[in-house]
Amino acid sequence: MQSISQRTGVGRHRKVNTAQTAKGRIALVTVAAGAVSTAGVGGAAAAQVQTNPEDSIKTQTVDFKHVSKPSPLDQVTGQVENAVKGAQSDFDAAVATTPQILTVAETKPVQNLGEQLNTAIQASQARAAADEAARAPSVARPAEGAFTSGFGPRWGSFHAGIDIANSNGTPILAVMDGTVIDSGPASGYGNWIRIKHEDGSVSVYGHMESLDVAVGQQVTAGQKIAGMGNLGFSTGTHLHFEIHPDGNTAVDPIPWFAERGVNIA
Ligand SMILES: [Zn+2]
Repeated sequence: MQSISQRTGVGRHRKVNTAQTAKGRIALVTVAAGAVSTAGVGGAAAAQVQTNPEDSIKTQTVDFKHVSKPSPLDQVTGQVENAVKGAQSDFDAAVATTPQILTVAETKPVQNLGEQLNTAIQASQARAAADEAARAPSVARPAEGAFTSGFGPRWGSFHAGIDIANSNGTPILAVMDGTVIDSGPASGYGNWIRIKHEDGSVSVYGHMESLDVAVGQQVTAGQKIAGMGNLGFSTGTHLHFEIHPDGNTAVDPIPWFAERGVNIA
């Protein structure tokens, strides 16, 4: 029975397979043993490192130095980080409480620096202009032209003012700030304008051909109020001017102007 089986091709084939399988099992065991052997060597090496007292002390010493004595660069980095964190914290707090004030404090001074400077310059210029205006003469010459007749007795009468002659239409100016109390025809003056000033004085202008202001109008020193003419009791185009410091009595305008920095004659 068995011989027959060994003679068959099937029998030989099965026997060969058995041998190959055994070789394969041996090879597998060899590989596994190699793996175990390698792991054993690695574990032995690791154990040797961990159990070497000198190496362990050295490692701990290095770590201790790193912790207790950070390098200057680490210190600077830490300070910068702390500063950034602090600034961020302040920034968050400011935003949470007063965001608009933060915007002004953080950005506007830089962005509007030029504008602020201009504002300051303008304020300074305004103060300078106000000072200059305060020092400027508050009394104006009533007309340009030739001084032709003074205050005093004249032609058997009394000339209560001064005459300044010029061409027809020459501007007649208010001598001080004030309120127009008369503007129109008047006996002897042709036309007249009377202005009452803040100090109680009254200035009078006569013979004008044209009138630019009305009763009740506020005028300023040097403002044009009329055009020179030859109306009324007049022998030529001129301005007749009177000043009444108390509002009723005329005085010589020449010294009155001189005291206020205006030279007529
Ligand atoms: Zn006159």
